[in-house]
Amino acid sequence: MKKIKVLPKNIYIDVDGVILTRGVAPAQHLDKFLGYILKNYSVFWLTSKCNGDSKALIKYLSQFLLPTTVALLEKIKPTTFRLDKTEAIDFNRRFFLLDDELFASEVNTLKKHDNYDSWIEVNLMKNPDQLLHLINHKLCIN
Ligand SMILES: [Mg+2]
Repeated sequence: MKKIKVLPKNIYIDVDGVILTRGVAPAQHLDKFLGYILKNYSVFWLTSKCNGDSKALIKYLSQFLLPTTVALLEKIKPTTFRLDKTEAIDFNRRFFLLDDELFASEVNTLKKHDNYDSWIEVNLMKNPDQLLHLINHKLCIN
């Protein structure tokens, strides 16, 4: 059977509520999750803690996370935006946006581009295993 070539997708990820829970604790299954998305997607930061340069963010995160996790996070590409995260999204490529919360203006922009369903609302308080669930289902490329 001929294999269908699928264009790579972008993933944009937030820090609080996605990488960290309660501001300080690493999300469950974080290393497995990061390893999977870095292997199968182009991964970008999309957080107010990163503005064009991820060095300060990596340093910030390294106080909460193991060096092996930090080494994975260093592979995530930085983005720049001023007011809304959606400014940094490349709407010409398929993408997922992992965030616990968006501003109404960001939701409107996603809807305007017909990309509202690209937002994966992460809620680790409600579902601590959500990152594992995502790589087994919604983000699974097979
Ligand atoms: Mg957030």
